[in-house]
Amino acid sequence: MRCPVTATEIAIVGVGKIARDQHLPSIAANAAFHLAATVSRSGGIDGVENHATLETLLAARPDIGAVALCMPPQVRYEAARAALLAGRHVLLEKPPGATLAEVEALKALAAQKGLALFATWHSRFAAGVGPARDWLAGKEISKVEIVWKEDVRRWHPGQDWIWQAGGLGVFDPGINALSILTEILPVPAHVTSAMLEFPEGRDAPIAAELRLRGATGFDVQAEFDWRQTGPQTWTIEVVTGEGRLLLSQGGAELDIEGEAPLRDRDHEYEGIYARFAELVAAAKIDVDLAPLTHVADAFMLGRRVVVEPFED
Ligand code: NAP
Repeated sequence: MRCPVTATEIAIVGVGKIARDQHLPSIAANAAFHLAATVSRSGGIDGVENHATLETLLAARPDIGAVALCMPPQVRYEAARAALLAGRHVLLEKPPGATLAEVEALKALAAQKGLALFATWHSRFAAGVGPARDWLAGKEISKVEIVWKEDVRRWHPGQDWIWQAGGLGVFDPGINALSILTEILPVPAHVTSAMLEFPEGRDAPIAAELRLRGATGFDVQAEFDWRQTGPQTWTIEVVTGEGRLLLSQGGAELDIEGEAPLRDRDHEYEGIYARFAELVAAAKIDVDLAPLTHVADAFMLGRRVVVEPFED
């Protein structure tokens, strides 16, 4: 139940798939927030005040204390900057921006203004991720294998921005795997090589293979592919000196040798809004750029191969 005295008035900016599927129900279920308005070029949500631009919302509704930015990454920085300058707390969908430097600039601005800034990584809130991190703490890792293969036509139909520069292509889902990897590994890793497959005429890759090296010498092999039809695969396997760990279903399921399996429903966005409530209450910043750094390094180091054109 929502508490009208303490709830922060919040606005969603960009009412697309993720806003409708996850942000709306998670805000409705969290007493710390009340959805006051939307910013949507296409009309917003029935019964909710809508503004065509963020500027008009910021001017008209000084009572709105926070915004959740759910638009594509290429246009997130300007919106986040405007909201912070107007004194609002900001939640950034993943990836937090189109470049590393723009997110660093937002961090500095949020700190200067004393506002909350949350770069969300929803997969880190999947049920198996925390237990996986705890089990791996202090263990010696010998290898890691990531397989993240899905059907782009099923999950991203008609999303032109995802194929444009800054849209990340297959790294849009792939960065979820990297957000889990960087959360569960007890030591850092860095990209050592990459191969990116670009469909002819597209600015973003449809598939990628990455190699990373862990600080204690182990290899991480990651395969991302958007051309997988049939069963979809989102797995991370970690082999250690004390057994093998498997995260599957994007982190919702965890299997550790010799232990009871963990299976849970999806409650990633509940976790995101619970964390955002903490950050807003304390005016704190939670921005971890490690997943985006790996993607940037893959683009910087990666060998590029042109493959057959992709049509939606
Ligand atoms: P989407 O369905 O294409 O929605 C994005 C919305 O942003 C659009 O509907 C549009 O809403 C608004 N928008 C503002 N400026 C835009 C522009 N220049 N081009 C296109 N849209 C613009 O995308 P989405 O799947 O919700 O993804 C949005 C973000 O959430 C991405 O960063 C993505 O990585 C992340 N995300 C997506 C999922 C998923 O399952 N789809 C899961 C987790 C995270 P208005 O018409 O209301 O203005």
